[in-house]
Formats: sequence, structure tokens, C-alpha cells
Amino acid sequence: MTGTTLDDYTDRYARRVRGMTASEIRALFAVASRPEVVSLAGGAPYISALPLDAVGEMLGRLASENGATTLQYGIGQGMLDLREQICEVMALSGIDGGCGASPEDVVVTVGGQQALDLVARLFLDPGDVVLAEGPTYVGALGVFQTAQAQVVHVPMDSDGLIPEALELAIAEVARTGRRAKFLYTIPTFQNPTGVTLTEERRERVLDICERAGLLVVEDDPYGQLSFDGEAPAPLRARRRDGVFYLSTFSKTFAPGLRVGWILAPHAVRDKLVIASEAQILCPSAFAQSAVTSYLTTMPWREQLKTYREVYRERRDAILDAMGDLMPTGTTWTEPGGGLFVWASLPDGLDSKAMMPRAIAARVAYVPGTGFYADGTGTGHMRLNFSFPPPERIREGIRRLASVMEQEMAM
Ligand code: PMP
Repeated sequence: MTGTTLDDYTDRYARRVRGMTASEIRALFAVASRPEVVSLAGGAPYISALPLDAVGEMLGRLASENGATTLQYGIGQGMLDLREQICEVMALSGIDGGCGASPEDVVVTVGGQQALDLVARLFLDPGDVVLAEGPTYVGALGVFQTAQAQVVHVPMDSDGLIPEALELAIAEVARTGRRAKFLYTIPTFQNPTGVTLTEERRERVLDICERAGLLVVEDDPYGQLSFDGEAPAPLRARRRDGVFYLSTFSKTFAPGLRVGWILAPHAVRDKLVIASEAQILCPSAFAQSAVTSYLTTMPWREQLKTYREVYRERRDAILDAMGDLMPTGTTWTEPGGGLFVWASLPDGLDSKAMMPRAIAARVAYVPGTGFYADGTGTGHMRLNFSFPPPERIREGIRRLASVMEQEMAM
């Protein structure tokens, strides 16, 4: 209700509240979750692929056998056992002791979202600039907006962030007398595009940031959800100085537990812990124990394979359906992993304006505008393929294509 006449508190809010607006995705969830609607709008993992009975038994044991720890307060940085496990998880993608990763420098967070908020708290003053891919993760835009920072988007193509465009953006920001504080990037199976930054561009992006004195905030929730071979190594595996690595168990295990982490440069680690303690005292001991127990007692590598297989089949289903059914003039990304496809609509179509007609036709997506700080993106949409089964995906694309055809005929 911020900024409306219905809100008696308007004059009392802190300045940072003025920029707070409801995310388009949240607003969509209520309608998109009706059973008759095929929702390609969400970003939820397919939790039914987990062995839920076994997970349930494990959770029960956490309370009955170890409740004195799991139901108690813990330390702000997060449990050492879990931080050690996190280092093993990161080592799988090349972030290991050799590049300075250690449990000492891991801070456990309440999902990847708190990790983003902490980095923003540490580095952003009102008016500071953040560079980010255009489009970028909607939840990061919310964090940067609350920090009263300005997001400058850097264009991407099918190989990810364009290094030349990054150089231009840095120069443009400098020309206006400001300095970008960091590059926020999701280099692997990006949300919302599904696009992956190529090996060659990874080195160039790191070089450009280093030369410009720009920190890099690498957000990597999807790197382990690859369908066609391993993803390129994260930026943090290539460079340790000035790179913050953020990830989460939300997509590889379960988002309901809200466990994520930051691997921070050593010098910053203490400040992150202090900021986190001020926010939440400590992450949930129960949730941390659940993840630790999952990683130490259950076949999580096998589960990761299962997630990959389920999503690969669904990725194939959405790409096949789009190839068969989408009107001429529509283009889309071909993700090698993750949860999303990004579609670009034929000229003249507006994904935001079309949304009520799509809902009436019982299909939902997220309009591209949700992923830009500046209201652009009307010609695009994000489509999720992780949650609906393949036949529902095809039906959703059939409905969507038919709405688009009607719009084009109008
Ligand atoms: N970063 C990105 C790029 C994401 O897509 C998400 C989840 N949608 C998050 C961070 C937040 O993750 P979590 O659910 O663990 O808070």
C-alpha cells in the first residue's frame, strides 16, 4: 500500500521504503497457483523428486536424538560442520582449498536472499551504483532498491554478459561522477534467461572488474543443475580477491529450509557475521542440522542427478513445444541447466499488457519487466520448466501460443 492514499503511514516511512513496490512475481502467485492455470511463472524446484519419507525420518531424528543442539541458538557465522560440508560442495565445482576456500570464510545465511541482503548492507550507500545483467534476478533488484542503490543494466547475449558493454557501462557511470560498487552477476544458468557466461568471457569479465576496481558478487544457485555436461567453473574458482560467492541449498535440496551461504574474502568475513547477527542473531540451527545431516547421511549426489534428469526432460519438453507451437517471430534461449527459458516476443507484443488475457486462457508466465530496474523488458517473458510435468508444459505453451496469436491478430 506504500504511496497510496489508503496508507496513513506514508509520511512516516523511512526514505528507503519509498522505492519498495510489490514484485510482479509475488502479485502473480495468487492467480497462477489456481489448479486450472498452467503456471510457467514460478521458480520452484520439483520437491516431489526428493525421497520425502526418508527426509521425514531424518528430520524426526534431528529433534529426538539431538534436540539439545538442533533446537537451540547457534553462532552467527553458522555451524562449523555445515561450513565444512559447504566447502565440499563448492569443491565439486572447482572452488577448493587451492583457491583459498575454507570453512573459516563461509558465512551461513537464510537462503541466497539473505546473502544478497548482507552484501548490499556492507557495500551500498544510497545513490551507489550496482552493475547487473539486463535482465537480472528480481529478488536482487528488490534488495538493491531497498538499499537505495541504482542498478545499471549491462546487456547480455546468448554467451552471457557482454564484456564490451560492461566496459562501456563502467565508463558511463564514471562520466557521471559516480562509481559502481560491484558487479552483481549470475554467470551460470542465469535467472531469468537460463544463459551461461562462456569460459572466455569469464576471464575477460574478471579482468575488466579487476582493472576498474569493481568487486564481483557472483550468485550461483543453479551451477550444479547442468543438463549437458558440467558448467564452466565459477568466477570464484578463477579469482579469489574481490569476488564474493553466493549460493544456496534451495535448488539442490529444499528451499523450505532457507539455508544458503556466502564465501567471502577473509577480510570481510567478520563484518558479514556482525551484519547478519544484527539481522537474525543466527541462522536456524534446525535447518542447518537438516542440511548437514542430508549431506552426510543421504545420497545427495544421486539426488542431484535425479533433479538434473527431471529438469532435462522438462527443458526438452518446453523447447520442443516452443519449436512446434510458438508464432513466427518469437525467439528463446536454450538453457544448458537451471530452471528458466527467456522468450522474446514478436514485434509489437507486450508481455505485461497480455498477462490478463493469458490468465483468462489459463496460463501464467512472468513478464520481462519484472527483471529490469527501469521498466523495460515488455517484449520478453520468463518461462519456468522445473515445476510442471512435461505434458502440462506442452499444454501451457499451447495456450500461450494461442494467446500470442490472438494478440498479433488484434
Ligand atoms: N539468487 C538467485 C539468482 C535466485 O534465482 C534465487 C532464488 N530464486 C535466489 C538468489 C534466492 O535463493 P533462496 O531461495 O535460497 O533465498
